[in-house]
Amino acid sequence: MTVSFEAIAEAICAACGGKCCHEAHPPLSPARIAILHGKGVLPSAFERNGYTRMKAGHDGTCIMCTDGRCRIHAVKPETCVAGPFTFDVAGNTLRLFLKRESICPLVPYLKADDMAYQTQCRMAEKNLADLVRSLPLHELDVINAIPEPETDLVAEIPLDMEKDRIP
Ligand code: SF4
Ligand code: SF4
Repeated sequence: MTVSFEAIAEAICAACGGKCCHEAHPPLSPARIAILHGKGVLPSAFERNGYTRMKAGHDGTCIMCTDGRCRIHAVKPETCVAGPFTFDVAGNTLRLFLKRESICPLVPYLKADDMAYQTQCRMAEKNLADLVRSLPLHELDVINAIPEPETDLVAEIPLDMEKDRIP
């Protein structure tokens, strides 16, 4: 029996316990905040530190993480959906980076499954482009300046920041 990539990913992420939710502070666009409010997430879950983001608990883990699992999986922020891809913006280019195995044990499995890789890469591209176009530019500047060590550049996507911008 062939095991699906989704099943493999679920097992690996469960064993990992949500490393990527530690000091994650996912950015929250106005649209995402509205979605989260609609699902009952209280404003006290959010904070501003140059940009609006999800709070973390005392140990640095995202407050939406319980026992290594995301409590808002179905509506989680765009950067969480995109993982293990991450991003920055250089001019009008959305640059996608892939985390290294040293910080995400799922990566070698993703690299070994071309269909899963392409599917996740497209989902990351769409979600991150939507996020970039819906964030205030001054917040995007702050997010862009956050270092992303142990990642490799894997794609550069042209993005018309003005034309595509979500009001
Ligand atoms: S995506 Fe990577 S870092 Fe995050 S829980 Fe899964 S294996 Fe761990
Ligand atoms: S919102 Fe969910 S997936 Fe994103 S960092 Fe928090 S617990 Fe992890």
